[in-house]
Amino acid sequence: MRLYEYEGIDIFESVGIPVPRRGVAESTEDALLIAGEIGYPVVLKAQVLVGGRGLAGGVKTVETPDELEEISGNLFSAEIKGLPVRKLMVCEKADILRELYMGITVDGFSGKPVVVVSTEGGVHIEETARTSPDKIASFYCDPAFGFYPYQARMLLRHIGLSERLLTFCADVLVRLYRVFSQFEALIAEINPMVILKTGYQGGLLAIDSVIEIDNSALSRIQYPLPQMIDRIENPLERKGREIGVTYVDLGGDIGIIASGAGLGMATMDIIGQRLRPANFLETGGGITEELLYKCMELVMMKVNLRAIIINIYGGINPIHEGARGVVRYIKEHNVTLPIVAKALGNHQEETWEIFRSGGVHVVTEASTEKAVNRLFELVGEQ
Ligand code: GDP
Ligand code: MN
Repeated sequence: MRLYEYEGIDIFESVGIPVPRRGVAESTEDALLIAGEIGYPVVLKAQVLVGGRGLAGGVKTVETPDELEEISGNLFSAEIKGLPVRKLMVCEKADILRELYMGITVDGFSGKPVVVVSTEGGVHIEETARTSPDKIASFYCDPAFGFYPYQARMLLRHIGLSERLLTFCADVLVRLYRVFSQFEALIAEINPMVILKTGYQGGLLAIDSVIEIDNSALSRIQYPLPQMIDRIENPLERKGREIGVTYVDLGGDIGIIASGAGLGMATMDIIGQRLRPANFLETGGGITEELLYKCMELVMMKVNLRAIIINIYGGINPIHEGARGVVRYIKEHNVTLPIVAKALGNHQEETWEIFRSGGVHVVTEASTEKAVNRLFELVGEQ
């Protein structure tokens, strides 16, 4: 889950990284009030979850309230790289001498956090990585050991920092590592970390944040994240997580319940030849009556569903119990939607009987294609 810039800046502030004075505005009136408190000039920054925002026109300096009104109005009505702007961060304008880059990410090859720094921060960092790799230095951390100031200083010496600046930057970098590890981030980045023309705030300011948290870690994170999760996570996917299945919300109208990722994918692919899946749902092991009842509840939450296909296999899984859950749901909710089931393995005959008692169309062949064809027939696609 990617955080907004202002959320990341709040986190930086909470660990003692110097950040600008700022406020978040949801309207031009808000922006005027915040700017009035901070004092002009201020920088208006569109809060959108996309890179290259500055180059796309999402970061603007304004000198007066009149100018703010005009530019804020433009930003709120514009789209930045196709995304609507619902919030602006209004910041004091930093008097920039130099822009550094500091970032920590997970290196896919070594599986370790890698700390990357450069003297060429700013909006062209990707280009620097290609054209002047010598201006970038990196360090692979041992996550069990951590990342300490002496290592940060060693790294920063490689890009030519020394003395006071070296000490201050090393301090920021260690704090950034703390954010990275405490939030189980995939990326924690300050670009640019600016060196100011004056000595204010120790001469450094983190004026942008990129933080992306590993979705699998969200439940472990204590910070004010619950409401952020509500905001970002799809409510159906959250319910899937709560009942212990993998549910992915898709754009179509054919519901899927499968008892394995491969089975689910194959079902989706075949459906995709003519229709569009409404979801991917994989029950994992442990089929029970209760679980399949809840799966039906979840799949049926999708509006405008046209049909459901159940594709389950029971090695040791008691699929007949699962079928009981499905049929109980159908009867309790008077479901009239066409439902096709292919259920093979452990107790299959009994499973088919139970499904039939709930009006489910059972396909007894070991062929997902046949089951999907049956579904195409039922919804009049063949
Ligand atoms: P990004 O494009 O989404 O990475 O947005 P940033 O917040 O990094 O801003 C892009 C660029 O705008 C920075 O690299 C700076 O050059 C410039 N910028 C942003 N804030 C300030 C500021 O307070 N003062 C000055 N002088 N420039 C700024
Ligand atoms: Mn940036």
